[in-house]
Amino acid sequence: MKNFNTDSVSNSDFKIGILGGGQLGKMLGLAAANWDVQIWMLDTSKSFPGGNTCTNFVEGNFKNYDDVYNFGKQVDVLTIEIEHVNTDALLQLEKEGITVHPSPSKLNIIKDKGLQKQFYAEQGLPTSEFQLLRDKNDILDAISNENLAYPFVQKSRLAGYDGKGVAVIRSASDNNKIMDVPSMIEPLVDIDKELAVVVARNESGEVKAFPTVEMEFHPTANLVEYLLCPSSVSDEIIEKAESVAMKVMEAFDICGLLAVELFLTKKGEILINEVAPRPHNSGHHTIDSCYTSQFEQHLKAIMNLPLGSTKMKTPSVMLNILGADGYTGKAHYQGLSESMKIEGVNFHIYGKEITKPFRKMGHITVVGESVEVARQQAELVKDKLKVISIES
Ligand code: ADP
Repeated sequence: MKNFNTDSVSNSDFKIGILGGGQLGKMLGLAAANWDVQIWMLDTSKSFPGGNTCTNFVEGNFKNYDDVYNFGKQVDVLTIEIEHVNTDALLQLEKEGITVHPSPSKLNIIKDKGLQKQFYAEQGLPTSEFQLLRDKNDILDAISNENLAYPFVQKSRLAGYDGKGVAVIRSASDNNKIMDVPSMIEPLVDIDKELAVVVARNESGEVKAFPTVEMEFHPTANLVEYLLCPSSVSDEIIEKAESVAMKVMEAFDICGLLAVELFLTKKGEILINEVAPRPHNSGHHTIDSCYTSQFEQHLKAIMNLPLGSTKMKTPSVMLNILGADGYTGKAHYQGLSESMKIEGVNFHIYGKEITKPFRKMGHITVVGESVEVARQQAELVKDKLKVISIES
């Protein structure tokens, strides 16, 4: 067991590097601001959300080997807020003694949905069946050879994000939706509920899970709309979900956060959908509703500090603030002052200059005496608040 590295939080020379300067970087920076540490971020523009919560913003591309390598050489611990970074540079930095969390070799598995599925199969972890196919032709061949039956879900192996690399193919009339990319194909799961468990692990081997949350999706945008904590499922399902999430963390054996997205099927099975080895949308509510936020926990985990308690302080509902459909341009928040009058509402506005249809512009977490009460307040905000552009 490694000793806890508690000196790092009271050492203004200690540098945490984050690849990515989006909203997750911003919220990591906010959490770190309570300590005496430096936060460095690498992304293409300082005007991104993370730009004003870090000590040093380095402009560069986290997909570029040299940019990541040169950035990483300057920090003590390197982490990510997005998976699609240059892992060759991370592997080299690790060889040269820089602490990189999550481990780049595991990140290589996670960022490819095909390798991720193969990993679960090898480890005997519960997930749906799957096949890996090269491109659209391969998929059409598999259909005509009867190796693939409708309905199925096609997922782009690389660079899928917020449902954008996912196509549901129900019958031959959907064949025009098949993407021409290396794909992981799985059956359409009969989903009862979508759940998520965010787990943290540090180098000393301490592991803690946040309470299971339930996600409700926007009917058309394929993005989480409401997130409920605690979830409405039975204690038995919660135990099952948390036990699967812990096993996934054990199998990956990484430090930092691991957000485990799960399907609860109509038959009562828990299946792993996918994981993210970083702070995640399904943990945003923890800032306002748990003893420790997921962002503070990620920092504690990568710095090998004792993990914080994951207990819930209050029930909560998180609502993503999405750019309104039909508006692209300089963001304007309509109905903000009316929404701020609603009890229990905590605003998190990311500070993205430009709004686009369904772009994640911020989130609110509503706390209340029950999920039902918080949910009603969240619905009021949803009715009042709109992110539009007033440019002509
Ligand atoms: P992303 O990485 O873009 O978030 P996901 O793999 O999580 O993509 O899929 C996005 C959403 O699509 C899921 O949350 C779920 O609602 C739906 N989905 C994904 N896979 C399946 C499946 N096999 N069966 C049914 N619905 C699915």
